[in-house]
Amino acid sequence: MTVRLFDTSTRTLRDFVPLEPGKVLMYNCGPTVYNYAHIGNLRAYVFADILRRTLEADGLQVKQVINITDIGHLVGDGDEGEDKMTAALKREGRPLTKEAMREVGDFYTDAFVRDLDALNIKRPALMPKASDHIAEDIVLITTLLESGAAYTTHDGIYFDTTTFPTYPDFAKLDIEGMQAGARVAMGEKRSATDFALWKLNDVLGYDAPFGKGFPGWHIECSAMIQKHLGHPIDIHTGGVDHIPVHHTNEIAQSESAYGAPFVKTWMHSAHMTVDGEKMSKSLGNTYTLQDLTLQGIAPLAFRYWLLTASYRTQVNFTWEALGGAQTSYNRVRARIYHLKHADESNTPSSLLQFNVEKKYLHDDIDTPSAISTINSILSMESVQPSLRLEQIKEIDEVLGLQLFDYVPEEIIITPELALLLEARKNARSMKNYPESDRIRDEIKKLGYEVKDAVDGQQLENI
Ligand code: AMP
Ligand code: ZN
Repeated sequence: MTVRLFDTSTRTLRDFVPLEPGKVLMYNCGPTVYNYAHIGNLRAYVFADILRRTLEADGLQVKQVINITDIGHLVGDGDEGEDKMTAALKREGRPLTKEAMREVGDFYTDAFVRDLDALNIKRPALMPKASDHIAEDIVLITTLLESGAAYTTHDGIYFDTTTFPTYPDFAKLDIEGMQAGARVAMGEKRSATDFALWKLNDVLGYDAPFGKGFPGWHIECSAMIQKHLGHPIDIHTGGVDHIPVHHTNEIAQSESAYGAPFVKTWMHSAHMTVDGEKMSKSLGNTYTLQDLTLQGIAPLAFRYWLLTASYRTQVNFTWEALGGAQTSYNRVRARIYHLKHADESNTPSSLLQFNVEKKYLHDDIDTPSAISTINSILSMESVQPSLRLEQIKEIDEVLGLQLFDYVPEEIIITPELALLLEARKNARSMKNYPESDRIRDEIKKLGYEVKDAVDGQQLENI
């Protein structure tokens, strides 16, 4: 079945056809490792994981690369302000050296990988670090300088966006408006949209033919993509904030340097907000996965919450929403657990065959429909439990919610409960159903639902 994906570049839903049959080359812009990832950041990687799992469920082999930005990403996402990693060194009272920067980067990279594992995000094939690709950045910048697409200023090397006429197209930028607005802070930049490929820096810089310095954040992604995936690639993802600057610049550099298309399908996940504002470190409104755990919200319940909305819809963080997701997640898993232990024998045989259409997987990663399908399957009382479980398992392979791992907390059978259960068993054996129903209600008052399974009566927490 064909997977349909929403492509940012054309703003349309398109059938996904891999460049090479059976294979997919996918790059997801990775985290800047100057601090712990916040749960807004993590949304981008849960999305990339579901995308990968959907393609894999379709029999495609996905080579996934998530980079680690451990150098060169400035605080403002543009060409001004401090490097985020340098700011981290100062914050942590570390010496301003490349070694210390690498240590800080490695520390937060490890924390990021632990977050991926906790969220059951499959490990990508590669997680290249920007600081290991300086030589590749230099080659790419040299190509751009030689072709006349880049120019030198007193503080570095800039890409000349006027040499790439389609520059505004991807983000539908209003270049004239930007030019007028930016006249004051342009420095030696020729156009407001020109951006740094290399920033000179004597203290922490790397040696390069054009002077000691740092690569720009954008060139790092272009260089790592070229090295590990080549061009063009099938899918490139990131958060929506990457559309107007980071990805627009990646396209300009790569297509200009290689004279060939760069990416076939661009996909962007929407933001997470808090009280309507983007969750971000600069606003100080971030939460980490650990903050959630401390409040009793399991990482996979957070994943479940994310999947109840489309990746293209903004989601607003509240503790109430997360608490609700934890309850629903527990309930679904408990229902699955009990279905696994249910008695199959009294299901009508005429209804043994059924098949759930799994269109939602293919319709632009429609996870909310996938979750409601699971709930509908759970309610199909007339269909054999094992068949229902088979279908749910298939869906969960893609959602990655580990719905089958649940073991309910042990229920202690008090003497009172034991007496009620015994009385109900006797009533049922004498076919005194009004009496057995009355006892069921008594048990309910104590907080338990009684179910009749193959191996006798079973209690579930309500
Ligand atoms: P960064 O570490 O800043 O480079 O961001 C890593 C990823 O998180 C990028 O794909 C961003 O677009 C994404 N991101 C940042 N803030 C948010 C947010 N509030 N909601 C969703 N995604 C975000
Ligand atoms: Zn990137």
